Amino acid sequence: MFSLLSVKGLSKTFVLHTQGGVALPVLSDIELTVNSGECVVLNGPSGAGKSTLLRCIFGNYRVDRGKILIDDGVETIDVAAGNPRQIIELRRRTVGYVSQFLRVVPRVSTLDVVSEPLRLLGVSRDESEQRAGDMLRRLRIPKRLWSLPPATFSGGEQQRVNVARGLIVSKPLLLLDEPTASLDAENRDTVVQVILETIDAGTAIVGIFHDAEVRDAVATRTLEMSPVSRAAA
Ligand code: ADP
Ligand code: MG
Repeated sequence: MFSLLSVKGLSKTFVLHTQGGVALPVLSDIELTVNSGECVVLNGPSGAGKSTLLRCIFGNYRVDRGKILIDDGVETIDVAAGNPRQIIELRRRTVGYVSQFLRVVPRVSTLDVVSEPLRLLGVSRDESEQRAGDMLRRLRIPKRLWSLPPATFSGGEQQRVNVARGLIVSKPLLLLDEPTASLDAENRDTVVQVILETIDAGTAIVGIFHDAEVRDAVATRTLEMSPVSRAAA
């Protein structure tokens, strides 16, 4: 079967330079394969390395061992090999990531934050803003906020702006880090609905969901993770 993402023997240890070089093993020999139309939920206690795994797949962290193979439609790229140009290109077209918290850029309006991924693909400003507006309306961000930077928004509003930006381009692989954590029930249900539509459209998802109800609604499979024992490292 065609695998969009294939993680093989992935290990990562953080070295804490500010604490005398203490080594903190976080991922040990992770194996994970995800196909189009699947949503694999990472399950496990806080500190198990779930967010770190997503960041490794997105190419944010150097890994110690293993491969992270992503099919971009033309060839298979090993993110763990870390060619920055390939990673930038993968992010533009193939891999989306909704981080746990919105990284706000000062002075950039909400409409620009959400429409930027479309503009990076060459979609016209008019059409990008139109589609960003549709997404913001669906996620109940009031129109009077669209021209403002999201820096001063509430936690739940920022999270919905983050989800809107992450889902505005349908990419083959989507990484979600607790996208519903600070949402009320109504907005949480909307985000779940958008995620289900994304899976139906054939996107492969790797996600972390705090809320068991959300997990049950979206998961097609679960990967259990537990903190790496220090003694074993
Ligand atoms: P989870 O998302 O499962 O709660 P994380 O992946 O955030 O877990 O963290 C796993 C472990 O790695 C934790 O012990 C955390 O303190 C540590 N960790 C995460 N990011 C870093 C970092 N950038 N530098 C050092 N340690 C980190
Ligand atoms: Mg986390």
